[in-house]
Amino acid sequence: MPHTPKFVYAFAEGHKDLKDLLGGKGANLAEMTNLGLPVPPGFTITTEACRAFLATGDEPSGLRHEVEEHLRSLETRMGRRLGQPDDPLLVSVRSGAAFSMPGMMDTVLNIGLSDASVGGLAAQAGDDRFAWDSYRRLIQMFGKTVLGVDGDLFEERLEAVKRAKGASSDLELDTADLRDLVAAYKDLVADASGTEFPQDPRSQLGMAVRAVFASWNGDRARLYRRQEHIPDDLGTAVSIVAMVFGNLGADSGTGVAFTRDPASGKQGVYGDYLANAQGEDVVAGIRNTVPLADLERLDKASYDRLLEIMRVLEDHYRDLCDIEFTIERGTLWMLQTRVGKRTAEAAFRIAAQLVEQGLIDDDEALRRVTGAQLAQLMFPRFADAGGSEPITRGIAASPGAAVGMAVFDQATAVARAHDGERVILVRRETNPDDLAGMVAAEGILTSRGGKTSHAAVVARGMGKTCVCGAEALQVDPARRRFTAPGGVVVAEGDVISVDGSTGCVYLGEAPVVPSAVADHFEAEHVEDETATHGEVGELLRAVDRIMAHADRRRRMRVRANADTGEDAARALRFGAQGIGLLRTEHMFLGERRKHVERLVLADTDDDRAAALDALLPLQRRDFADVLAVMDGLPVTIRLLDPPLHEFLPDLTDLSVRVALAEARGAVDETAAGGADDAALLAAVRRLHEHNPMLGLRGVRLGLVIPGLFAMQIRAIAEAAVERVRAGGTPHAEVMVPLVAGVRELEIIRDEAREVFAAVSRETGVEVALPVGTMIELPRAALTAGRIAEAADFFSFGTNDLTQTTWGFSRDDVEASFFTQYLDAGVFGVSPFETVDADGVGRLVDLAVREGRTTRPDIALGVCGEHGGDPDSVRFFHAIGLDYVSCSPFRLPVARLEAGRAAVLGQADKRADGGVR
Ligand code: ADP
Ligand code: MG
Ligand code: MG
Repeated sequence: MPHTPKFVYAFAEGHKDLKDLLGGKGANLAEMTNLGLPVPPGFTITTEACRAFLATGDEPSGLRHEVEEHLRSLETRMGRRLGQPDDPLLVSVRSGAAFSMPGMMDTVLNIGLSDASVGGLAAQAGDDRFAWDSYRRLIQMFGKTVLGVDGDLFEERLEAVKRAKGASSDLELDTADLRDLVAAYKDLVADASGTEFPQDPRSQLGMAVRAVFASWNGDRARLYRRQEHIPDDLGTAVSIVAMVFGNLGADSGTGVAFTRDPASGKQGVYGDYLANAQGEDVVAGIRNTVPLADLERLDKASYDRLLEIMRVLEDHYRDLCDIEFTIERGTLWMLQTRVGKRTAEAAFRIAAQLVEQGLIDDDEALRRVTGAQLAQLMFPRFADAGGSEPITRGIAASPGAAVGMAVFDQATAVARAHDGERVILVRRETNPDDLAGMVAAEGILTSRGGKTSHAAVVARGMGKTCVCGAEALQVDPARRRFTAPGGVVVAEGDVISVDGSTGCVYLGEAPVVPSAVADHFEAEHVEDETATHGEVGELLRAVDRIMAHADRRRRMRVRANADTGEDAARALRFGAQGIGLLRTEHMFLGERRKHVERLVLADTDDDRAAALDALLPLQRRDFADVLAVMDGLPVTIRLLDPPLHEFLPDLTDLSVRVALAEARGAVDETAAGGADDAALLAAVRRLHEHNPMLGLRGVRLGLVIPGLFAMQIRAIAEAAVERVRAGGTPHAEVMVPLVAGVRELEIIRDEAREVFAAVSRETGVEVALPVGTMIELPRAALTAGRIAEAADFFSFGTNDLTQTTWGFSRDDVEASFFTQYLDAGVFGVSPFETVDADGVGRLVDLAVREGRTTRPDIALGVCGEHGGDPDSVRFFHAIGLDYVSCSPFRLPVARLEAGRAAVLGQADKRADGGVR
């Protein structure tokens, strides 16, 4: 018999770990149902059904029947049928994917209501106004999300009725107004969509379910997924929930709550409540909410019950929960919960608090924070408001320091950001249509809505600075300006500074200070536990606790990319266990350029030797400095990599200089420098390359320019000897760049051995340093087994490997067409940001395996930016690298993610029974 999947689950059949199948919303509704909490009954259609629908454009066979069955049992339980004229059962049709996507997908409330049943609803509730209000909401939501009618058109009709009545809020509309509105909405739907609003409850339900399925591929949903790196092929579940009504009068209402402050992590009562309202009124900010604590005064019994449920949920989920609830005439109903989004600061503080409370262990705490969050905490903040006064203050909704020019609509935000400007998106409130502008902006400022408004929720999710509810601002999008108290007018293009940690908004560019967390890492070790008090102190202790655990857990070591003693010292403070990449090219700049010029111009061996002799002591000094700082730790020094002409004058400049000199030369034959410049020009012309990235560089220089690499190797060896003589323990390693085949490496390695032997002889100190190579060309990866015969170590240069594998020159492609590539879904994230696991990563994996087969003890690491990217770090852990190397500032992120990779890897193994 063919396997027929089960497409529909009653709430009682599910649980919280079925997110992939039931979506977060469906899984958690099931969990709450089974915890005995007051959830209106309902059922969930699986993501599998959605995937089948998206693949074929049609409902999978069997779905209709299953829905029918579950609906029938819901009707039996409720004692009334969907849309039953005298007493209609109404339901909501709610989207819910495995990952929470706030406001991205569409939900329709009040399904089942029609001309035939609106009277029955009114009679049952004893409230005409309520029934017509529910009906107009249904037509509005259904028209917009199911029939694709522009939502603004409904708003316009609503505004018109309000205006005619002189009403400032929808609450002032009476039954007659709402009846008129229903008629107007129906006409609008018929005109705009060419279809009548469906009167049959079952058609409403079927159409709404399909619309939710289809909304998975809506523009906003796609954009959000791209931003959050959520795969496109998961699909959404659909939950169908019996309606409960918060719009039944003053003793009803709807609200949202957090069990802890999602901005700071502090425990307490956080949330917003809105009386006599339904569904999304709270987050949409159409009326001003009251703080949740006020509910105690309004309805003490419901308030107490809510707090009790919040405690149950937090103990059960062992985490910050975010909740939607509705009170229908004094009865509390839970409509949603999920583990809440939070700021980076809150993530660290909550994880550490929960460990201290004994609810989770240190491994779990480590799983619950991310490298991206740590990176955010290391960003600078605004200097304390010593100098400038804020022009206004709003709610600190998502921390950070954002400076940019004010813009008033999302299109301008996108356009200006595209031109390289920093912008702050200023709106009265945001809605999902503003998403592209929010992505483009440095920060978001709104005049309405609380900590749970759309702007706040989305900004926190994206890690963007946000101040919301700055109510003193008069935002005028039509005239592209806002007015702050005291008549301060800020027009489009004026620079403002927005502090998401304090809620302050400043005119102009406010000065910024480094983050406490970055300072803390920088400041070696804070021995005195009491040195920092209060909120900052708690955050630093949380970071320390989790970092210490990451360091205990991680298998990979971390090294830094550092070129100078100073950088190396900084790297040590950030936790470096060596240097993975010391570039030598900067050592050829400045004053030293003249030696490079001499080297290039040398006609004879003597000339060349003289140039190299001049460079030798300078290089030795450079290396000895870093080896001193990194005493006892490995220091991988890369031989010269870039093409030599990078150290020579620019072709055009030099041509002009020579031309001028020649013109003068006609008058004054003995013009000094003229002859040298002419020779240099000839050399620059000779060395000019069409594609320097693929030209004479890396190991090729070592093979073509006699003595250059030998000089560098000698400088390294002599520096090591110097350190030994000074009582140190140097661990220098020689790294040969851009090797494509083993022979190239063998030649340089043999040369190195001769140098080591000579230096040992001359100094009486034995030197035999490891010689290895960068793997940064596809051919090197493909022949890594052979190359390993001549290499003591590999360091993957994943930046060049990405360029050469994709055939992209990074500088040329990133700015010119990467946005189109991201839009077109060629990749979800730039392969220069996160290593492309399927292509470039596969080459690395192959080279790791074949390198180890040849030489089991070969040391394997990665240098380059990917070494500090969270996702890439976990990838490198998974394929078995020994270390990652990245810039000093990224080291804490690398340490944290290496630790997370270790504990997450264990969790994976447990999940699939230890088989990998
Ligand atoms: P979102 O994912 O945008 O939050 P939801 O599916 O949670 O969408 O629904 C939107 C709003 O409608 C929420 O405020 C929710 O609490 C409310 N809602 C959903 N289902 C019901 C229901 N059966 N009864 C009353 N309110 C509901
Ligand atoms: Mg919701
Ligand atoms: Mg390279």
